[in-house]
Amino acid sequence: MRPFQKYFCAIAISLWVISPGNAQLLVAPTLHIKAEAGGGRVALTLDACGGRTDTRILSALVENKIPATIFVTGIWLKHNAAAVEIMRAHPELFELENHGGRHVPAVDTPQKIYGIRSAGSPEAVLAEVELGAAALAVTGEPAPKWFRGATAEYSPSAIAMIRKLGFKIAGFSINGDGGSLLGAKETARRIAAAKDGDVIIAHINQPTHAAGEGVVQGLLALKAKGLTFVRLDDADGVGDEGTTD
Ligand SMILES: [Zn+2]
Repeated sequence: MRPFQKYFCAIAISLWVISPGNAQLLVAPTLHIKAEAGGGRVALTLDACGGRTDTRILSALVENKIPATIFVTGIWLKHNAAAVEIMRAHPELFELENHGGRHVPAVDTPQKIYGIRSAGSPEAVLAEVELGAAALAVTGEPAPKWFRGATAEYSPSAIAMIRKLGFKIAGFSINGDGGSLLGAKETARRIAAAKDGDVIIAHINQPTHAAGEGVVQGLLALKAKGLTFVRLDDADGVGDEGTTD
């Protein structure tokens, strides 16, 4: 065996040894919307995980009449009544969907994903999904049909459970803002590169991050190119990993 092969084998073995026995392989599903004759449609999805509202993005959506699907948590709904009011005042633009009650990843074994502790059991996954739907019901919004878990990664068994509850699971095809941590320029570049059928994910809950400015620039660039925006309820979404079929 060549030295570098030995080296990689050693890494593989040590990773296997330190992995907790119950950690599952997680999946990060993709989602596209079906192409239509005449093309040029993209779906913008924005997560409101917790925290506040990025009014740069919210105002730009209203001013430019850009429809969006907003994934909200119970935590975010509690502290952002003014933003919810604006969204509810524009039902032609905003579709509110389920991002969970407490923003815990929909993974039914105990593990950490990007440093966030998973729900950890089937019961806790169900509670996360149902609490998110219940929090939305209080706002008077239509019952959510889509779910996106915190971190957008899932255990396959959690995906099956969430589908049984009647939700489709919203993956994405373009990671617009890298969890809201990218700079404005790179965020704008990624979003502006969206093509017919793409589903963009970004965040609307980090008003102090530079990424939000890039979200606005990227969306305006797409609009200028003549692309149209649809919400998930208005398009046929096709996801992998059993998330929509
Ligand atoms: Zn989130």
